[in-house]
Amino acid sequence: MSIAENIQAIRARMDRAAREAGRDPAEILLVGASKMNGAAACRAAIAAGIDALGENRVQEMTAKLEEHAYDGAPLHFIGRLQRNKVRQVVGTASLIHSAGSLALLEEIQRQAEKRALVQDVLLEVNIGGEESKGGFAPEELYAAAETAGGFPNVRVLGLMTIPPVEREPHGNFPYFLKVSQLYVDISRNLYDNSFKYLSMGMSDDFEDAIAAGATMIRVGSAIFGHRQYQ
Ligand SMILES: *Cc1c(COP(=O)(O)O)cnc(C)c1O
Repeated sequence: MSIAENIQAIRARMDRAAREAGRDPAEILLVGASKMNGAAACRAAIAAGIDALGENRVQEMTAKLEEHAYDGAPLHFIGRLQRNKVRQVVGTASLIHSAGSLALLEEIQRQAEKRALVQDVLLEVNIGGEESKGGFAPEELYAAAETAGGFPNVRVLGLMTIPPVEREPHGNFPYFLKVSQLYVDISRNLYDNSFKYLSMGMSDDFEDAIAAGATMIRVGSAIFGHRQYQ
């Protein structure tokens, strides 16, 4: 199957999952997780109407930018971000999904202020409480959202999560529901219902994420094929 055919098939599954959940399919965006796929693959996804492309590594993103891999679609940053690389991402990625610590948010604020722009971000939630993952613990999230709301050059538009690797079918659904609840509560209580993006769900579980309320799914292998790790 080609990238265009894969995207078409995913769109059909997204539509069905949205309708089954009583939701409008148009409110759910498809972000292609294009790590380890070249500029040609990115361009094919854009030609097939992907809503955005998301990268994980700053070095790879910078190299592919030089090849004009993302021309014609918004570029998002979805991977773990080190503070010393924030400068390269602020103002380049239209949305950073992975703002997962106050130190990182402070650095995003600093770099955005320097460049006189407002950076859109999502707060990452570590819903499984995993040591290996970034993100705010659910109990830290309210305070973090409040602090971030005071940063003039950072605009928080929602939440993102990567739940634990789950072997059981629908095993991530309870995590998605918890993050969805946090999203609704924080948007209502701290952000005047202005949140727009709940980023959750990947190739193996995006239908469950949509059932739980995702407005943005991040899909890699189901679009681009299995990644070759060296
Ligand atoms: C790679 C990646 C995805 C997509 O994963 P697939 O299982 O290939 O769909 C989504 N989100 C993040 C943060 C990723 O790094």
